[in-house]
Amino acid sequence: MFRTHTCGELRKEDAGKKVVLSGWINKIRTHGSLTFIDIRDRYGITQLTLDKEVDLKKEYVVRVEGEVKIKPEANENISTGEIEVIVKKIEIINKSQSLPLDEHATEDTRLKYRYLDLRRPEMIKNFQFKNDVIFSIRKFFNEHNFLEIETPILVKSTPEGARDFLVPSRTNKGKFYALPQSPQLYKQILMVAGLDKYYQLAKCLRDEELRADRQPEHTQLDFEMSFVTSDEIRSYVEEMLSFVFKENLNQDLKTPFPTFSYEESMERFGTDKPDIRFGMELNNITEKAKTCEFNVFKEAESIYTIFIPKEFSRKEIDKYTELVKIYKAKGLAYTKIFDDEFDTGITKFLSEDLKKKLKEISKKENGTFFFGADKKRIAQKSLGHLRNALAKDSGLTASVDFEFCWVNDFPLFAYNEEEKKWEPEHHAFSMPKKEFIEDFEKRPDKALGDLWDLVLNGWEMASGSIRVSDPKIQERILEFIGIGEREAKEKFGFLLEAYEYGGPVHGGMGIGIERLVSTMLGKTDIRDVIAFPKNKSAQCPMDDSPSDVTTEQLDELNIKLK
Ligand code: ASP
Repeated sequence: MFRTHTCGELRKEDAGKKVVLSGWINKIRTHGSLTFIDIRDRYGITQLTLDKEVDLKKEYVVRVEGEVKIKPEANENISTGEIEVIVKKIEIINKSQSLPLDEHATEDTRLKYRYLDLRRPEMIKNFQFKNDVIFSIRKFFNEHNFLEIETPILVKSTPEGARDFLVPSRTNKGKFYALPQSPQLYKQILMVAGLDKYYQLAKCLRDEELRADRQPEHTQLDFEMSFVTSDEIRSYVEEMLSFVFKENLNQDLKTPFPTFSYEESMERFGTDKPDIRFGMELNNITEKAKTCEFNVFKEAESIYTIFIPKEFSRKEIDKYTELVKIYKAKGLAYTKIFDDEFDTGITKFLSEDLKKKLKEISKKENGTFFFGADKKRIAQKSLGHLRNALAKDSGLTASVDFEFCWVNDFPLFAYNEEEKKWEPEHHAFSMPKKEFIEDFEKRPDKALGDLWDLVLNGWEMASGSIRVSDPKIQERILEFIGIGEREAKEKFGFLLEAYEYGGPVHGGMGIGIERLVSTMLGKTDIRDVIAFPKNKSAQCPMDDSPSDVTTEQLDELNIKLK
């Protein structure tokens, strides 16, 4: 037998018991003729005491037999701190080399030795937590009559927003499968099949540029429901999340979550992912600002300001100016207010009318106004990013509150300036809102979709929509985004055909599990909750993928490298 107990289990009530433990050596120290060893496994650490010196090193895997004894002085830092095990026999199961990881290890080294990084108690805690969250999710969906159904990993390549990963078929030479960006089309077809309520923890694979919150593969809590309205779907999700947060963090979420239309969110927060843990909202001052003798304001389509009760150095203002430039702003005008007097920046251009308005905003506080004056979206977005940066730098985003909100009424289409064409804002399967069904082609810039996002602390957690279950409307949408009848048949024929056999009204969402779990843990890097993530170049330094393959493998697939 390798163990009677885990390394996190023994308490003073176990005193006198003969026990067997197995685990890794966490620490060794000698004191006179005594050796003290901390032995570690997933569950904790137990102190072993030996009355001799031993030839052991850190991270050796050992099996020990011994007797539990109460320690004269408890170690309060570990759960087993009341006891020690007096060792009768110790055997080495396997040896370990000295560890290649220390606090200076680069990220690639950490990923290369991911199994060592995962040994850290904090990482083990993350995965325990992720497991528990997923377990609660399954419990909720199961209790609400959803069926967990797997959809294929080898699917047809269809445009769904990102770039597909392709898999060549050996048995069908020259043809390719794609890895699913999400189970979107398959879950829609499950609704046509009458399965009514589906969910799945689905792997989603997208060949995109990587960021801290993006990996080539991630897991989505993907679900779909029939005969529902978007309000019903959203309140379902609120109920589910309330259950999950209560079970795992003992936190009560305030429901219903605040809802902003896309337009309102842009107007007030300069983003469609508003962080509502803090105020500092944008103020549209276009009308008043136009009365100033300031060309930047006179020429701009829209002018917004945000006020922060804080003063900044020249250097800080330069930094924020660089930031807004990333979002296409030409510069960052500002003015300070102190004891009701404006000072520095663009003060000399401010009209009395605008000054009055600004004083209403600052409500007698001293601080700084920043201005965004440009095309409407540029002014909004650049100040939106500035708002987040100011909040972060002022410590306003460090709070552990969970502020969910919904952003709905998204535009159905977005104009791609580079390619000069309309594209779906989300994906091509979202239903236009009723009032736009008839003529969305004629006013694509106005058309809204029955389409929404879920945002948590300024992070997009999920997207969802009511789907187009009418094949005629679906064809029109595809046609409008440049996918003509022939191409539509080729790419989505199976979906369009399915709806010819009676599709229910249905909708659903995809919720990013890693984003959700990492936010619940107070983290911002999703790699903390992915066992084997890729690095920033989409490589895995541990297994060295992607890697070369043999010419024979390529031949079999009928592929020749350029
Ligand atoms: N498939 C969508 C996505 O991955 C989610 C959904 O609309 O259900 O964003």
